[in-house]
Amino acid sequence: MSRTPIRRTPVPASSSRAVVTPIMPSVVYASESPDALDDQYESRSPGYTYAREGHPNADVLAQKIDALEGGSGGLIVGSGMAAVTAMFMALLKNGDHVIGGSQLYGRSLRLMKEDLPRLGIATSLADPTDVEAVRQALRPETRLILLEVVANPTLRVADVEGIARLAHDRGVLLAVDNTFTTPRAFQAFGHDADIVIHSVTKMLAGHSDATLGYVLAQDPELQARIRTFAVTAGLTPSPFDCWLAERGLYSFELRYDRAEANAAELADHLAQLPGVTRVLYPLRRDHPDYERARCLMGTHASNMVSFEVEGGRFAANALVRAVPDLPFAPTLGDIGTTLSHPASSSHRALTPDERAGLGLSEGFFRISVGCEDIALLKEEFATAVAASQAER
Ligand SMILES: *Cc1c(COP(=O)(O)O)cnc(C)c1O
Repeated sequence: MSRTPIRRTPVPASSSRAVVTPIMPSVVYASESPDALDDQYESRSPGYTYAREGHPNADVLAQKIDALEGGSGGLIVGSGMAAVTAMFMALLKNGDHVIGGSQLYGRSLRLMKEDLPRLGIATSLADPTDVEAVRQALRPETRLILLEVVANPTLRVADVEGIARLAHDRGVLLAVDNTFTTPRAFQAFGHDADIVIHSVTKMLAGHSDATLGYVLAQDPELQARIRTFAVTAGLTPSPFDCWLAERGLYSFELRYDRAEANAAELADHLAQLPGVTRVLYPLRRDHPDYERARCLMGTHASNMVSFEVEGGRFAANALVRAVPDLPFAPTLGDIGTTLSHPASSSHRALTPDERAGLGLSEGFFRISVGCEDIALLKEEFATAVAASQAER
């Protein structure tokens, strides 16, 4: 009887070590003995048992993002939304109340409007640029406030300092979704956030080929609850995605700096093109939250630029069609520039009046600026904007 093919073979020994983190897809880990397993379960010795409970590729990635955020013990989960969900489900219970910024990521808004209320958790949305609005929304049973520093796609800047003071006065947890700003532009724990969340899918991984999330609560007891919920609910990340994201993360700061410098230059370029009615970028002096942005992010502002052209949907179609090489795709943080149109994608569920209230006309676009040569980007956007105005 042949026995070799289905018996697993140990990894060949090597006195030199691999420079690159190996990908470890193993779902299970074999232990030496029941005693050895006891030691592991009771944290007397390190090690893995079952991939849903944790695996090396997730831990390597988590430690790297921890270092960027200035914390330790972060958790990688299968998507940014898994991170948001794990935080809510682990920390809230029936009867609690949560406040969210009124311009949170669409799916976070959906969780707050549909799913949490269904589970008996009350929610309110408040304008995060207005600390008084957040104060008004507070209730005795408010447990948590979730903010994004720079709102999508209006790029308004939340009053994080005011809201952090308010939250701490009232014993309410402050969670910051730092996806847009990244730890390069905004240090959440340095601004008194209790919890930081990322869609690692975006700028941190940076290549639109891995879907992952990250969550870290500074209080280890809260973090343990989040980890336990994520393991129970199976919000497990794929080792291969973690490995890709680790690879992406090595160039994160280089990519970020290049993309942000491009964004600043492209914003100024757009502002002087005929047909452009508005440019939004927090490093520009005409941005409504310029001072606050400088206060929170110093010389940084993210790689996101929004702008508006005259001519409504007709002009918007012509603009997109004129630059087929620029992916028209509702994502952000890719190494290459992507263009999105909120009225037909992220904000299509809003009524025209609601969109108008946010200034999101049919001519409004958001750019996630990438790392291309800036001369190419300027040329492409000049072509696109000219085409949008040509037949008007
Ligand atoms: C994309 C995004 C998310 C969700 O992340 P996924 O990885 O797509 O689940 C959450 N918050 C913000 C700000 C995002 O941009």
